[in-house]
Amino acid sequence: MDKKNVQLVAVSKTRTELEIMKLYEAGQRDFGENRVQELLSKKDNLPEDIRWHLIGHLQSNKAKYITSFVFLIHSVDSLDLYKTLYKEALKSERKISVLLQFHIAKEESKYGLNWNEAVELVEYHLQQSNNKVIITGVMGMATLTNDMGQVRREFATLNTYFQQLKKSYFNDEDSFCEISMGMSGDYKLAVEEGATMVRIGSLLF
Ligand SMILES: *Cc1c(COP(=O)(O)O)cnc(C)c1O
Repeated sequence: MDKKNVQLVAVSKTRTELEIMKLYEAGQRDFGENRVQELLSKKDNLPEDIRWHLIGHLQSNKAKYITSFVFLIHSVDSLDLYKTLYKEALKSERKISVLLQFHIAKEESKYGLNWNEAVELVEYHLQQSNNKVIITGVMGMATLTNDMGQVRREFATLNTYFQQLKKSYFNDEDSFCEISMGMSGDYKLAVEEGATMVRIGSLLF
């Protein structure tokens, strides 16, 4: 495990532009928002070299507002959303990088694919020609619980999904390399279980 290679996405939802600028001036460039409307209204008042990550559930009808600039969409959680992004990417002539969000938590409310849905999506993805959607890895959110053994197992499961997809479909694709997992309360476990990206909000701001 090489902890130096873990990328920090500063989760700036509900934070002001002033708060974001403080981190920006300290050198942070990757910021994550979970709502399209909020992302759009902040973006215009902030430096252009910020790399915006969409980390929350994305409704298909809102995808078109962010595809022209978003750096990485962490939350592709359905084939429908994937198909929308595929069409938008063709239109905008810009590549769109995405992660497949897996449902790894116990809570029903959390979004995400199960293994079979992910396989269906990836097989569809590989059949498209002129594809400008790049699947660069996986994302997941662990159960909100004090049972750290449970959280660790969920992160390990996500890592296993990543390895299996890599082996079966992306072995020759260096771009398939990201595991986005870990938030303020559980990022240490996530890094131990192989996270390449952590999404941290409350601890930073
Ligand atoms: C809010 C949020 C985070 C960050 O949570 P903190 O506990 O504030 O670090 C990470 N990922 C997603 C998807 C979020 O919505």
